[in-house]
Amino acid sequence: MTTRNMEDYLETIWNLQNKKGYVKPKDIADKLEVTRPSVSEMIKKLSENEYIVYEKYGGIVFTTKGKKIAQKIKKRHNLFVEFLKIIGVDEQNAQTDACKLEHDVSPETITCLLEFVEFISLLPESSKWKENFQEYLKKRGLLERSSNKNKKL
Ligand code: MN
Repeated sequence: MTTRNMEDYLETIWNLQNKKGYVKPKDIADKLEVTRPSVSEMIKKLSENEYIVYEKYGGIVFTTKGKKIAQKIKKRHNLFVEFLKIIGVDEQNAQTDACKLEHDVSPETITCLLEFVEFISLLPESSKWKENFQEYLKKRGLLERSSNKNKKL
Protein backbone atom coordinates (compact mmCIF):
# COMPACT_ATOMS: atom_id res chain seq x y z
CA MET A 1 0.00 0.00 0.00
CA THR A 2 1.48 3.30 -1.06
CA THR A 3 0.76 6.56 0.72
CA ARG A 4 -0.01 9.82 -1.05
CA ASN A 5 3.43 11.10 -0.20
CA MET A 6 5.10 7.99 -1.57
CA GLU A 7 3.14 8.39 -4.78
CA ASP A 8 4.38 11.95 -5.20
CA TYR A 9 7.95 10.71 -4.89
CA LEU A 10 7.47 7.76 -7.23
CA GLU A 11 5.87 10.03 -9.81
CA THR A 12 8.69 12.56 -9.51
CA ILE A 13 11.36 9.88 -9.83
CA TRP A 14 9.57 8.55 -12.90
CA ASN A 15 9.39 11.99 -14.50
CA LEU A 16 13.03 12.80 -13.72
CA GLN A 17 14.18 9.47 -15.06
CA ASN A 18 12.35 10.03 -18.33
CA LYS A 19 13.61 13.58 -18.65
CA LYS A 20 17.21 13.24 -17.54
CA GLY A 21 17.92 9.53 -17.69
CA TYR A 22 19.16 9.42 -14.10
CA VAL A 23 17.85 10.54 -10.71
CA LYS A 24 19.79 12.09 -7.85
CA PRO A 25 18.29 12.94 -4.45
CA LYS A 26 19.02 16.62 -5.04
CA ASP A 27 16.87 16.63 -8.18
CA ILE A 28 13.95 15.21 -6.19
CA ALA A 29 14.41 17.79 -3.44
CA ASP A 30 14.41 20.60 -6.02
CA LYS A 31 11.40 19.26 -7.87
CA LEU A 32 9.20 18.60 -4.83
CA GLU A 33 10.56 21.60 -2.90
CA VAL A 34 11.40 19.53 0.14
CA THR A 35 14.55 19.26 2.26
CA ARG A 36 17.35 16.81 1.57
CA PRO A 37 16.71 14.96 4.87
CA SER A 38 13.08 14.40 3.84
CA VAL A 39 14.26 12.97 0.54
CA SER A 40 16.76 10.70 2.31
CA GLU A 41 14.05 9.48 4.64
CA MET A 42 11.73 8.68 1.73
CA ILE A 43 14.49 7.00 -0.25
CA LYS A 44 14.99 4.73 2.73
CA LYS A 45 11.27 3.99 2.93
CA LEU A 46 10.95 3.34 -0.80
CA SER A 47 14.00 1.07 -0.70
CA GLU A 48 12.61 -0.89 2.25
CA ASN A 49 9.39 -1.37 0.29
CA GLU A 50 11.47 -2.55 -2.65
CA TYR A 51 10.17 0.12 -5.00
CA ILE A 52 13.61 1.52 -5.76
CA VAL A 53 17.27 0.75 -5.44
CA TYR A 54 19.58 3.56 -4.47
CA GLU A 55 23.22 3.30 -5.33
CA LYS A 56 25.27 6.20 -4.05
CA TYR A 57 27.05 6.72 -7.36
CA GLY A 58 24.51 5.29 -9.75
CA GLY A 59 21.49 7.21 -8.52
CA ILE A 60 17.97 5.93 -8.00
CA VAL A 61 16.50 3.20 -10.16
CA PHE A 62 13.14 1.44 -10.02
CA THR A 63 12.70 -2.20 -9.19
CA THR A 64 10.18 -4.08 -11.33
CA LYS A 65 7.62 -3.60 -8.56
CA GLY A 66 8.37 0.12 -8.30
CA LYS A 67 8.24 0.61 -12.04
CA LYS A 68 4.82 -1.01 -12.19
CA ILE A 69 3.43 1.32 -9.53
CA ALA A 70 5.06 4.40 -11.06
CA GLN A 71 3.53 3.54 -14.42
CA LYS A 72 0.12 3.20 -12.80
CA ILE A 73 0.49 6.58 -11.10
CA LYS A 74 1.57 8.17 -14.37
CA LYS A 75 -1.34 6.64 -16.24
CA ARG A 76 -3.74 8.02 -13.65
CA HIS A 77 -2.09 11.43 -13.96
CA ASN A 78 -2.51 11.43 -17.74
CA LEU A 79 -6.14 10.40 -17.37
CA PHE A 80 -6.88 13.41 -15.17
CA VAL A 81 -4.98 15.71 -17.54
CA GLU A 82 -7.01 14.40 -20.44
CA PHE A 83 -10.27 14.83 -18.56
CA LEU A 84 -9.44 18.38 -17.45
CA LYS A 85 -8.52 19.32 -21.01
CA ILE A 86 -11.82 17.90 -22.26
CA ILE A 87 -13.72 20.24 -19.95
CA GLY A 88 -11.72 23.21 -21.20
CA VAL A 89 -8.79 23.54 -18.78
CA ASP A 90 -5.55 24.60 -20.45
CA GLU A 91 -2.53 22.28 -20.54
CA GLN A 92 -0.52 23.98 -17.79
CA ASN A 93 -3.36 24.10 -15.27
CA ALA A 94 -4.40 20.59 -16.22
CA GLN A 95 -0.90 19.30 -15.42
CA THR A 96 -0.76 21.07 -12.05
CA ASP A 97 -4.29 20.19 -10.99
CA ALA A 98 -4.03 16.57 -12.09
CA CYS A 99 -1.37 16.12 -9.41
CA LYS A 100 -3.77 17.43 -6.79
CA LEU A 101 -6.73 15.36 -7.93
CA GLU A 102 -5.10 12.05 -8.71
CA HIS A 103 -4.33 10.76 -5.25
CA ASP A 104 -7.42 10.34 -3.11
CA VAL A 105 -9.84 8.89 -5.63
CA SER A 106 -11.64 5.57 -5.51
CA PRO A 107 -11.05 2.91 -8.16
CA GLU A 108 -14.71 3.36 -9.18
CA THR A 109 -14.13 7.03 -9.97
CA ILE A 110 -11.03 6.15 -11.97
CA THR A 111 -12.98 3.57 -13.95
CA CYS A 112 -15.83 5.99 -14.67
CA LEU A 113 -13.41 8.72 -15.67
CA LEU A 114 -11.56 6.34 -17.93
CA GLU A 115 -14.80 5.30 -19.60
CA PHE A 116 -15.93 8.91 -19.92
CA VAL A 117 -12.69 10.01 -21.59
CA GLU A 118 -12.91 6.99 -23.88
CA PHE A 119 -16.56 7.73 -24.68
CA ILE A 120 -15.77 11.34 -25.58
CA SER A 121 -12.92 10.25 -27.83
CA LEU A 122 -15.33 7.98 -29.71
CA LEU A 123 -17.87 10.71 -30.46
CA PRO A 124 -17.96 11.69 -34.12
CA GLU A 125 -16.54 15.11 -35.07
CA SER A 126 -20.02 16.06 -36.26
CA SER A 127 -21.42 15.89 -32.73
CA LYS A 128 -19.83 19.29 -32.09
CA TRP A 129 -20.11 18.79 -28.36
CA LYS A 130 -16.84 20.61 -27.77
CA GLU A 131 -17.96 23.69 -29.68
CA ASN A 132 -21.32 23.57 -27.92
CA PHE A 133 -19.64 23.36 -24.55
CA GLN A 134 -17.29 26.28 -25.36
CA GLU A 135 -20.34 28.23 -26.47
CA TYR A 136 -22.08 27.39 -23.21
CA LEU A 137 -19.05 28.48 -21.15
CA LYS A 138 -18.89 31.74 -23.08
CA LYS A 139 -22.54 32.43 -22.39
CA ARG A 140 -21.98 31.80 -18.71
CA GLY A 141 -19.07 34.23 -18.78
CA LEU A 142 -16.69 31.49 -17.72
CA LEU A 143 -14.43 31.32 -20.72
CA GLU A 144 -13.37 34.98 -20.48
CA ARG A 145 -12.68 34.67 -16.81
CA SER A 146 -10.43 31.66 -17.23
CA SER A 147 -8.47 33.24 -20.10
CA ASN A 148 -7.99 36.45 -18.08
CA LYS A 149 -6.68 34.40 -15.21
CA ASN A 150 -4.12 32.83 -17.51
CA LYS A 151 -2.88 36.20 -18.69
CA LYS A 152 -1.93 37.14 -15.17
CA LEU A 153 0.28 34.10 -14.78
MN1 MN B 1 0.69 13.83 -11.10
